[in-house]
Amino acid sequence: MADILLVEDDATLVLSLEMTLQAHGHHVIVCRRLAEARDILKGGLPDLLLLDLGLPDGDGLDLCQELRQQGAITPILMLTARGTLGARVDGLRAGADDYLPKPFDLPELMARVEALLRRRRWHQGGGDLHIGKLHVDLSQRRALSDEEAVHLTDLEWRLLTYLVERRGEVISRDELLRRVWQSSPESQTRTVDVFISRLRRWMEEDSAKPRYLISVRGVGYCLNQD
Ligand code: CA
Repeated sequence: MADILLVEDDATLVLSLEMTLQAHGHHVIVCRRLAEARDILKGGLPDLLLLDLGLPDGDGLDLCQELRQQGAITPILMLTARGTLGARVDGLRAGADDYLPKPFDLPELMARVEALLRRRRWHQGGGDLHIGKLHVDLSQRRALSDEEAVHLTDLEWRLLTYLVERRGEVISRDELLRRVWQSSPESQTRTVDVFISRLRRWMEEDSAKPRYLISVRGVGYCLNQD
């Protein structure tokens, strides 16, 4: 069971979403305006945010960006009638984890909700983890390398958290630029490589022969915890 905040102004859709989510055992809080959502979020973050874009008092994209700028890692699934490729890219760049154009089928929505919650559960369970000689506590934002405290910048934390959430998956430099740096892939992919080498210094015994944060030639990087 998860706490889900649903920000949506279409009453019919709210009703069917609320019923479906509750039937799957989730606790749902509904708000129809951004101002209301901001108030609720001040009191604590939900396990998942389902966010409409066209709302009576503004654009859901703004709320998504605000949360990411504040460092919130709550999964965000955007629900919107703006189904064009451009709109989808804007949503993902604003920090959404997934994007579902309306109209959608409820089983598809539920599959995506469960996938995002699985990832989150793993993330919560993995608050404390060892990757090579790096020991990180993600919830406390503390890191030790070879038993010595290391200071990670905000960007380094974002990169590490993203890699941890996607461990075992090959992630392209373009994706990292979009999701971690929130900039377009046209910007320097070299930047990514520089940050990757920094993380490697903290986790690898031999950065020249990485065992944990490995390069996948021509594609990107993959984090293996073992
Ligand atoms: Ca709407």
